[in-house]
Amino acid sequence: MEVSRRGFLKVGGGVAGGTAMAGLAALGANLAPTLARAQELRIKDAKITPSICPYCSVGCATLVHTVDGRIVNIEGDPRSPHNEGTLCPKGAATFQLHVNPNRPIKVLHRAPGAADWEVWDLERAMERVTELVKKTRDETFIERLPNGKLVNMTPAIFSLGGATLDIEWNHLQQKLMRGLGIVAVENQARI
Ligand code: SF4
Repeated sequence: MEVSRRGFLKVGGGVAGGTAMAGLAALGANLAPTLARAQELRIKDAKITPSICPYCSVGCATLVHTVDGRIVNIEGDPRSPHNEGTLCPKGAATFQLHVNPNRPIKVLHRAPGAADWEVWDLERAMERVTELVKKTRDETFIERLPNGKLVNMTPAIFSLGGATLDIEWNHLQQKLMRGLGIVAVENQARI
C-alpha cells in the first residue's frame, strides 16, 4: 500500500482523534485479514466453554474463551440453530460485563436525602434489605379481602429481575417472592 505525505498526515489525525486502525482504514487499507489474525492470536490455545448470552430471553448461544482462567473473548456460537454465531450489539459486548474496570464491585449506599454514596460491606447491606423487606411486609400484609377471600399477599413490594439473572436464580427468586406474598414479580428479560 502506498501512502502519500498528505495521506500520512491524515492518518496522524486519525491516530490522534481515534485509533491507528481507524487511521489506516481511512486510507483504504483492507484491515480484515489483520483483524482476523489479531483475533486468532487472542484466542489461540484458549479453553472454549459454551455459554448463553445473559441479556435477554432470546438466549443466544456463545463461546467463552479463557486463558489461565481469565476470560479473553466471548463470541457467538456458530453451532447454535437460532443465532448461528451472531450476537446483537448488546450480546457482543458481554465480554465487558465480565472484564470491566468500571464495574462497581462494592455495595454503595446513599441514605435518604444524602448527596454522597457510602461504601457498605455486603453483610450490612443484606441485613438492611432484610430488615426493610420484613418491616414493609408486616405493615402491609393482607390476609383476606373485604369479601373474606384468602389472599396472603402484600401489594407494597415489587420485584424486578435483571436480564443477567439466570434461570436458576429466577426460579429461586420466584419461590422467595411467592413465599413472602409478593405478587408483583417481573423481569427485564421479558420486555
Ligand atoms: S441480548 Fe442480543 S445476543 Fe443476547 S440473547 Fe438477546 S438477542 Fe441474543
